[in-house]
Amino acid sequence: MWRVGTDSPDVPVDLGAIDPRSTPGLPGRKVTGDDPKLWARSEVERIGAELATQQEMLFAQAAVEPQLGRTVLLVLQAMDCGGKDGAIKRVAGSMDPLGLRITAFGPPTPDELRHDFLWRIRKALPPTGYVGVFNRSHYEDVLVVRVNGLAPESVWRPRYKKINDFERRLAGAGTTVVKVMLHISRDEQRDRLMQRLINPDKHWKFNPADLDARGRWDDYQAAYAEALARCASDEAPWYVLPADRKWYRDWALAHLLRETFADLKLSYPQPDYDVTAQRHRLETDG
Ligand code: ADP
Repeated sequence: MWRVGTDSPDVPVDLGAIDPRSTPGLPGRKVTGDDPKLWARSEVERIGAELATQQEMLFAQAAVEPQLGRTVLLVLQAMDCGGKDGAIKRVAGSMDPLGLRITAFGPPTPDELRHDFLWRIRKALPPTGYVGVFNRSHYEDVLVVRVNGLAPESVWRPRYKKINDFERRLAGAGTTVVKVMLHISRDEQRDRLMQRLINPDKHWKFNPADLDARGRWDDYQAAYAEALARCASDEAPWYVLPADRKWYRDWALAHLLRETFADLKLSYPQPDYDVTAQRHRLETDG
């Protein structure tokens, strides 16, 4: 996984230099001799249990001391077939659905279009103590909008700054923002799209418009490259996660979330009552 640097926002990220089939950060020693796929899958389960505990702590702290509560927001972006849904299912699936807020962003409704592009994003922000997952996000407003010319450059270009201001404010108010681009290759996308056409049970997932977007692959990569560079910040970092191998994708995302939680140094809140006295009461109440 690659953390995008914050020192040269004017230089687009060189996505071509990041191999979507690579597996950076995978502890090679541990997987030598084993099937890395099997190893990664069992690790995802193990880390998933840790994530579930961390999420519970996040929730409990916010419930007991709302003013000190924290929030985590994972923003997922990818080309079509990039694996957002699968990654969410396998990684976020380990957490308690009650503490999760997963929001998918499609084309804006007429009502949403009447508002600023961040309006629907603000409405979908996770409450304090929750883990939010954005399946697509405000970044579409500098990606598809730019590539398909849905708004002129004079409209989308100032959005980089608006996004940075927005995310900085979020972070300042106690939300840990982590942004991940699932980076797949054009060949892998072709295979996955073909699978959707071959398997009748997957036909519903295929959208002929996906082929139009595929035709603009280079324009999308350029739009991603600029958005990642301009909107990577210490408060809200961007990661490029090579995602051609699904088992690596899930492992790397789980690993990143574990690190994110570790930085928060969470613990279960102390009760504001005397536990021994309450136990005594219960034991003696007949
Ligand atoms: P997904 O491909 O994420 O599984 P969909 O098939 O519903 O889900 O696709 C969502 C579509 O919504 C994508 O084509 C995406 O480009 C589009 N979309 C999302 N946000 C915007 C936006 N702000 N403006 C225009 N189109 C958008």
